[in-house]
Amino acid sequence: MVSVLPTNSNLDTWRDLPAVQQPEWPDPGELKAVVDELSQLPPLVFAGECDQLKDRLAAVARGEAFVLQGGDCAETFAGATASDVRNKLKTLLQMAVVLTYAASVPVVKIGRIAGQFAKPRSKPTETRDGVTLPAYRGDMVNGFEFTPEARTPDPRRLLRAYHSAAVTLNLARAFTMGGYADLRQVHAWNQDFVAESPAGQRYERLAGEIDRALTFMQACGADPAEFHTVEFYSSHEALILDYDRALTRTDSRTGLPYDVSGHFVWIGERTRQLDGAHVEFLRHIRNPIGVKLGPTTTPEEALALIEKLDPEREPGRLTFITRMGASRVRDALPTLVEKVTATGAKVAWICDPMHGNTFEAPSGHKTRRVTDVLDEVAGFFEVHRALGTHPGGIHIEFTGDDVTECVGGGAEISEADLHERYETACDPRLNRSQSLDLAFLVAEMYRQ
Ligand code: PEP
Ligand code: MN
Repeated sequence: MVSVLPTNSNLDTWRDLPAVQQPEWPDPGELKAVVDELSQLPPLVFAGECDQLKDRLAAVARGEAFVLQGGDCAETFAGATASDVRNKLKTLLQMAVVLTYAASVPVVKIGRIAGQFAKPRSKPTETRDGVTLPAYRGDMVNGFEFTPEARTPDPRRLLRAYHSAAVTLNLARAFTMGGYADLRQVHAWNQDFVAESPAGQRYERLAGEIDRALTFMQACGADPAEFHTVEFYSSHEALILDYDRALTRTDSRTGLPYDVSGHFVWIGERTRQLDGAHVEFLRHIRNPIGVKLGPTTTPEEALALIEKLDPEREPGRLTFITRMGASRVRDALPTLVEKVTATGAKVAWICDPMHGNTFEAPSGHKTRRVTDVLDEVAGFFEVHRALGTHPGGIHIEFTGDDVTECVGGGAEISEADLHERYETACDPRLNRSQSLDLAFLVAEMYRQ
C-alpha cells in the first residue's frame, strides 16, 4: 500500500478552509511577528514522547488500559503557580491510584494542562448592563476583565501562553519525576482524605485494601522504579490554529510533523466540521489526537472523522471523547459505538461527563451536579459493557483546590454555596474532594 502519510507542505492547507472560533486579531502584522517568534522557540514536548503516549492509547483501544484526563476548563496565566499546579497533580495522581487498583490495568495520566489557554464560545460577544464587548476566549487570546482593553484580542498573549505552558510543564515534570509522586506518598494522601473527611469515610474499605496490597509488596521486597515516578502527559484543545501551527515541528527521527505544544491535542465539539480548518490541520500532525463527540453526532460523521483523521487505522492515533449528557448517554452512545466498532476501527473511547451536564443556577452561576457527572459515567460503562466494548477512560474538569463550582458530592455543596469560591475562568470544575469522590465511585463501578 502506498503510504498516505502527509509531508510538511500539508501543514498549511487548513488556511484555505473555514476556521471557526478564531479571534479577530486587530493587527495582522503583529500576529505575524508573534507567530514568527513562536516558530523559533524550542519544543515543549518531544515527538518520541507523543509516540509513547500513542502506544499507551493503543493499549486503551485494545481494552488493556484506562485514561484519566483532566484539569481546568481554562488555565489562566495567574494559575501557573507552584501551589496550583501541585494541587492539581496531587489530586490527579490520587485519583489514578484508586483507579489503577480498581481497574487492575495501567492508568494513562493526561493533564488538561500546560496549553489549555483558549476557549470556544457559544456567542462571540458578551453584554453586561447594556455594554457589549468581545467574549473572553481564554488567556491565550484576551483578558477576563470586562473592559474594552482587556477583551481586545492581543497576539502577544500567544507568547505568554507558550511561556506559561513551559513553566507549568517544567513543574509537572519535576513533580512527577522527582520523587514527589511516590506511590506510598500518594496513597498516604488518599488515607488522609478517607480519615479526615466525612466524604472519604465511605471508602475506608477500598483504601484499606490498597494499603494491604502495598504493604504486601513491600514485605516481598518489591520496589520497582514505577513506584517512585509517574508517566504524565500534557494536553489541550487545539483551538487557536496559529498557535498550534507555529509550534509544529518536523521530527528529526522520522521527518514527520508533530505539534510539540502538547503530547495530546483534541478538536472540540464546536470545531469538528469535516470540511473545516481544525480537522484539516490535525489530519497532518502525528500526535495522538482526540475529537469531542456530543449527542447530535451521527454515526456517519464519526466514521467520516475516522476516515479523515486516522485513514491508516493506526492504533492509539484517535480517541473519541464522548460528552452526551447524563440524560442522553444511554440513547445516543450505543449506535455510535456499535457502528464504529463494526467497521473494525480501533479508537479509544473516553467519557467527558462534564460538558453535557452544565446548567445555570438561580444565582446565575454556571454549574454541574456531581450526581449527573456520575450518572453519565455510569451510563458510559453500561453502554460499553452491553456492547462488549471497552470503557476506556474519563475526561474531567477539576482543580486541586476547595472551590465551590459544582453542586453535590460528599461535601454537599448547594446552589446557595456557589458564590463562596467560584473561581473558574470558564466552566465549573470539580473541587478536590468531589474529584476524589468521583475516583472512588468509578472504582466501585469497576468492581460491580
Ligand atoms: C471543553 O473541553 O472545555 C469544551 C469546550 O468542550 P466541548 O468541546 O466538548 O464543548
Ligand atoms: Mn469546559
